[in-house]
Amino acid sequence: MDFELTHEQRMFQRIVRDFCDAELKPYAAEVDETGKLRTEAIRKMADLGLLGLAIPEEYGGTGMDMLGTALALEEVGRTCGSTALSVAAHNGLGCAPIANWGTKEQKEKYFPRLLSGEGLGALALTEPNAGSDLAGGVQTTAVKEGDSWIIDGNKAWITNAGIAPVMTVLLRTNREAGTGGFSMMLVESGTEGLNIHAPEKKMGLKGSPTHMLSFDNVRVPLDNLLGAEGAGFRQTMATLDSGRIGIGAISIGLAQGAFEEALKYAQLRRAFGKPISEHQAIQWMIADAATEIEASRLMVFKAAWMKDQDKDYTKMAAMAKLMASEMAEKVARNAIQIHGSYGYSREFPVERIYRDQRLMTIGEGTSEIQRMVIARRVLKDAEALLPTPG
Ligand SMILES: Cc1cc2nc3c(=O)[nH]c(=O)nc-3n(C[C@H](O)[C@H](O)[C@H](O)COP(=O)(O)OP(=O)(O)OC[C@H]3O[C@@H](n4cnc5c(N)ncnc54)[C@H](O)[C@@H]3O)c2cc1C
Repeated sequence: MDFELTHEQRMFQRIVRDFCDAELKPYAAEVDETGKLRTEAIRKMADLGLLGLAIPEEYGGTGMDMLGTALALEEVGRTCGSTALSVAAHNGLGCAPIANWGTKEQKEKYFPRLLSGEGLGALALTEPNAGSDLAGGVQTTAVKEGDSWIIDGNKAWITNAGIAPVMTVLLRTNREAGTGGFSMMLVESGTEGLNIHAPEKKMGLKGSPTHMLSFDNVRVPLDNLLGAEGAGFRQTMATLDSGRIGIGAISIGLAQGAFEEALKYAQLRRAFGKPISEHQAIQWMIADAATEIEASRLMVFKAAWMKDQDKDYTKMAAMAKLMASEMAEKVARNAIQIHGSYGYSREFPVERIYRDQRLMTIGEGTSEIQRMVIARRVLKDAEALLPTPG
């Protein structure tokens, strides 16, 4: 077992960290205040290869493995939560399904647009009445008519929808076929009948655009089917498994960012004649944060490594996401505590990080859903330990 990153991984991590410190960190408060991503930084991320992490090199992407992707997302999360969520959704939700199941023609058509930095990719699964229970709740349909699919319904909470040149959409194509009745389709943003509503007014991650979509008799060519008809639910679960490692990595970044702010503040702020970092209560918060960030990072790395080794990583990804997202809330909470009143002020980054991290236990499967995924697998494995009857 080797816990060291390779030379190349450390170099990549350093390049992304330097970029994020220069191009994201100084602007993170502005992104939060204005509710807009910094387009200049997104374009520079395209030059750095950070928009092609999930796109194979033959199509101009970086073809990065999951561990490298996690390293990059942690660094982006450490400096700007909004940018991290949008870039993670672009790579893991917008580009990855096209890379995994797209035809050569679909890849050649859409990857150049997705790599340019002019927009970011999106995946539309959630609906006003369907989040955790996609199989039971998705109502948006696609019906074949001549050489087209006709799409009707609504999607909700879609990251990057307002800036995506093309979106992958989960649709019900056969009401009788259970989970085999879903398909994924590519829908271009300007398509007639597609209405992208005003951005949601959110608690945090304000620079990352989130929109509701309505589809009113939207016509797309039959060729816009992504992968096989009926494979949509399976494709969704596979995409979320991998996306959960990304959310885990962003959670670590957010926690690390809050922790670094708290460490700095604790050494400068004095109370009772000494820096507050010399008070034991503060040291315990520091020790817990250092330990829990490290434990979560190891879990995210392990989940990423398992994916890269083609192992079954569903349980590990759920564990890593659960652990890292719940850890981030605690670390961000204590970072505010260490700052006292100043932590409650918009003048200090920990206030923003606290709001930003809150999504991490909700998006790409809530903590409750992660626990269900984990428990189901643990109990299944435990069945093998039961004594055989007779
Ligand atoms: C900022 C933001 C960005 C997002 N981006 C996207 C995106 O790009 N694409 C996309 O498709 N979606 C996106 N989402 C939606 C997100 O994935 C869903 O909100 C999430 O999956 C939860 O669904 P829900 O909100 O409908 O909650 P619900 O499913 O209604 O759940 C409500 C509560 O009930 C609990 N619950 C549900 N079922 C069970 C159960 N069986 N046992 C125990 N508890 C249960 C949940 O854990 C939760 O606490 C985004 C959401 C936000 C806020």
